[in-house]
Amino acid sequence: MKINQTINTNSETICLPDTKFPRIVIIGGGFAGLALVKKLKHKELQVVLFDKNNFHQFQPLFYQVATSALEPDSIVFPFRKQINGYKNVLFRLAEVEEIQPSSNTLITSKGKIHYDYLVLATGTTTNFFGMDSVAENSLGMKDIRDSLNIRHMMLQNLEEAAITCDEEERDSLTNFVIVGGGPAGVEMAGALAEFCKYILPKDYPEYPSSIMKIYLVEANNMLLSTMSDKASTKTLKYLKDLNVKVLFNESVSDYDGSQVTTKSGKTILAKNLIWTAGVKGLFPKGIDEKNIVKGNRIKTDDNLKVEGYENIFAIGDIAAIITEETPKGHPQVAQTAIQQGKYLGDTILKLINDEPIKPFEYRDKGSLATVGKRKAVADLGKFKFAGYFAWLLWSIIHLLSISGFRNRLMVGFNWAVSYFTYEKSNRLIIRDFKPKSSINHTNK
Ligand SMILES: Cc1cc2nc3c(=O)[nH]c(=O)nc-3n(C[C@H](O)[C@H](O)[C@H](O)COP(=O)(O)OP(=O)(O)OC[C@H]3O[C@@H](n4cnc5c(N)ncnc54)[C@H](O)[C@@H]3O)c2cc1C
Repeated sequence: MKINQTINTNSETICLPDTKFPRIVIIGGGFAGLALVKKLKHKELQVVLFDKNNFHQFQPLFYQVATSALEPDSIVFPFRKQINGYKNVLFRLAEVEEIQPSSNTLITSKGKIHYDYLVLATGTTTNFFGMDSVAENSLGMKDIRDSLNIRHMMLQNLEEAAITCDEEERDSLTNFVIVGGGPAGVEMAGALAEFCKYILPKDYPEYPSSIMKIYLVEANNMLLSTMSDKASTKTLKYLKDLNVKVLFNESVSDYDGSQVTTKSGKTILAKNLIWTAGVKGLFPKGIDEKNIVKGNRIKTDDNLKVEGYENIFAIGDIAAIITEETPKGHPQVAQTAIQQGKYLGDTILKLINDEPIKPFEYRDKGSLATVGKRKAVADLGKFKFAGYFAWLLWSIIHLLSISGFRNRLMVGFNWAVSYFTYEKSNRLIIRDFKPKSSINHTNK
């Protein structure tokens, strides 16, 4: 393959050291991009990682930041610290806006760059399925800023509820609707319910904990539909024990910031709507339309190469290997992303050395979800667990998966404190969060 090098003569070109080695550009330092970077470190390649943030985010624990159980800096990790000592890896903070495959060029928010191999690892964004009113007034949970917004919205609304004498207004400020009964929705509902049970009576003694109602809306007739029946049934029981109201076969059709309307016509007064019901692929323009499949994912062959291009690959949530066994692509979870990142690292090295390559094979290591403290469900092959043991497994696996020793220590310490005391970390309103609904409230 012909190797193109960047000539830094254009003032718009992003400055990079000259090298005689092939340049691999990776867009996105999520689970997939970082696994790939680790595979390619110390190799005879120039690896350039682009991300619009200067940190990696551990999305599975976003809900704990949202509910004040963890501080954000314990689940994000700076890329520059991650690549310390990786001499052939460079990080550039920029958003990639366009891919120009005919000239192997990327257009970013900070300038252009040339690539020899390009890897898209850009993940997904919240999918509101075209419902503008819901997108405008609810909060998704796909970024650490979303988690902080949820935290601030929740704390501010609880404070507003303590101020108002209007009962209907108080109800809407203390009602929470979570949409989506997958792992993110279930975990969020469990954590909120525990906040309501253990924190609310201490912090807000002026009103009973029954004032905070939590609804979980699921379009299907079961929770955690990708897990076993046992996991689904146990999860429902755990949530009911925590007084979460689960609405099956319901989907949200409209939300004005104060009232949720479902397709069947049900209405719920709530100034807190958290949307975890769907994601869609997110990637810069320039990829041929014919490669884009359901969920806005990019179709690849079984080596993760985007069809029609010789040197463009996609990995993680954004990639869909469509075969008879995987007609919808692989599950959009961290394990898939990590395994694809590692696989592609080996594959690129083999391609460069003209060695034969094998197709990607996914190893399903199982699924876990937790419902509040001390309760979880785990499907590990033919072994299905529920309860305390599953929760221990969940805790150990998540703790070991977090990037950085300091972060693991901080999360472990917080969890230990909360295990014995039910205390959450500081519940501070540091920045003002102003949803449209709160502006309406002020004007009332
Ligand atoms: C709330 C929540 C809970 C979850 N819980 C679990 C769980 O318990 N277990 C599990 O296995 N999975 C879970 N997942 C799914 C898991 O997090 C994803 O499958 C995984 O993050 C996918 O990794 P990725 O590398 O493909 O994408 P991501 O991790 O999303 O990373 C994409 C990266 O690309 C960057 N980026 C995007 N566009 C651009 C651009 N144009 N230019 C520059 N940078 C860009 C982003 O900043 C980001 O760093 C959860 C997801 C969410 C949202």
